[in-house]
Amino acid sequence: MPTKQQREALRRLPAVHELLERPELAPWLERLPRKWVTGAVSDVLAMCRREILENGNSGQPSPDSLAVRAAESLLHLTQPRLKPVLNATGIVLHTNLGRAVLSRAAADAVSRVALSACNLEYRLEEGVRGSRHDHVETLLCQLTGAEAAMVVNNNAAAVFHVLRTLARNREVIVSRGQLVEIGGSFRVSEIMGESGARLVEVGTTNKTRIRDYEQAVTADTAVLMKVHTSNFRILGFTQETSREEMAGLARRHDLLFFEDLGSGILYDLKRHGIGDEPTVRECVEAGVDLLSFSGDKLLGGPQAGILVGRKEWIDRLKKHQLTRSLRVDKFTLAALEATLRHYLDPEEAAREIPTLRQILKQPDHLREAASRLEEAIRRHSGEALETEIVPSHSEVGGGSLPGVELPTHCVAVFPRNLSLSRLDRKLRQVTVPVIGRVSTDRLFLDPRTLEEPDFPRVAESFREALQG
Ligand SMILES: *Cc1c(COP(=O)(O)O)cnc(C)c1O
Repeated sequence: MPTKQQREALRRLPAVHELLERPELAPWLERLPRKWVTGAVSDVLAMCRREILENGNSGQPSPDSLAVRAAESLLHLTQPRLKPVLNATGIVLHTNLGRAVLSRAAADAVSRVALSACNLEYRLEEGVRGSRHDHVETLLCQLTGAEAAMVVNNNAAAVFHVLRTLARNREVIVSRGQLVEIGGSFRVSEIMGESGARLVEVGTTNKTRIRDYEQAVTADTAVLMKVHTSNFRILGFTQETSREEMAGLARRHDLLFFEDLGSGILYDLKRHGIGDEPTVRECVEAGVDLLSFSGDKLLGGPQAGILVGRKEWIDRLKKHQLTRSLRVDKFTLAALEATLRHYLDPEEAAREIPTLRQILKQPDHLREAASRLEEAIRRHSGEALETEIVPSHSEVGGGSLPGVELPTHCVAVFPRNLSLSRLDRKLRQVTVPVIGRVSTDRLFLDPRTLEEPDFPRVAESFREALQG
């Protein structure tokens, strides 16, 4: 039961039509159909009634404050929610920040097919219906040495497709050490359950030998599966079975050898001393029949699940109904084609694809970049901040190259007149939000994941945050 005070407060709330006459809402009534403004006002009043009933004697809200709240909610409604942010975390593939940033050419390719009709499923030579896979299949085969290729919505979908289409009601043998969970949303054992394939775990978390696989093979076995242990590394006394051995075993028993690579690498990063991951081509050459990997991890392209391998398996996947449900759109294919084309010349790939460019940035370059970033911020925010350049480490992120630390230099920022958490919050609320890394007492900005033209924008966002 509301108290007398609460009943009084409810009674004194203005009516919808009264609020609609407030000057704060006049520009909105001009700009939008009346129903949206009325809706915003009713929502604010409803929220207000709840607040009165829940908090007892909270003060009576004034009509202008109610009108301002309605105007704010209309502003939210009309402004983009999904928008660019400045990634100063140093995590190159930050899943929460959209993973890979596209190259200029890839972004342009998306915009070209977005603004016009295109030959998505049309063969221009013959004037007949074509397949959307054609646009990238040749490139994928050239770049990986595989016989055939196809693309689905993401790598989780690719794994599901393989298990559902090629191993339903059959057994799939996986090493216990590879049963990963990625970002809480991708668990091999659960995908397997959903697909109707039966998981057979072999070995221990740190050791699986070819003998363990061999002993598990039965008449029901369809697939030997290898899974990349994307976000963890088992260190010390470990043993993984080699691809060559697994390929041999698969051949002897007429099984499919499938590998979920997580991040498929087309550019040899280990040649630069970064990680020790094999390229997709090396896995194909080692005898893996079918491989899946993401488009927006180390490849540096759009979200996609790429499947490459022997033609007989890819053909079976392409023909299956599920391909229709998991299919990618023209934007993905346009971006993927342009990204893959860069790899024809590895130097071009390293220069044009932001993911590779950022991973390959050298510590000396990063120290100088950090100084320029520091200078830009100080120019705008002068006395309000203390800053310093400090050596640190960046990560590749996105479950790629686990355990690899890339040396970098960060701008460490310490606000003089407000708390660190408040500065961090304000930086997230400005026109172009800046996402940094909060350490115990300072905010770290890593230039690895920023481009030179971003520096003045970061500085401008700091100015806006410190002002408001
Ligand atoms: C990231 C990852 C996936 C999921 O890929 P998405 O493209 O995000 O769907 C699956 N398997 C492994 C090993 C991964 O690292």
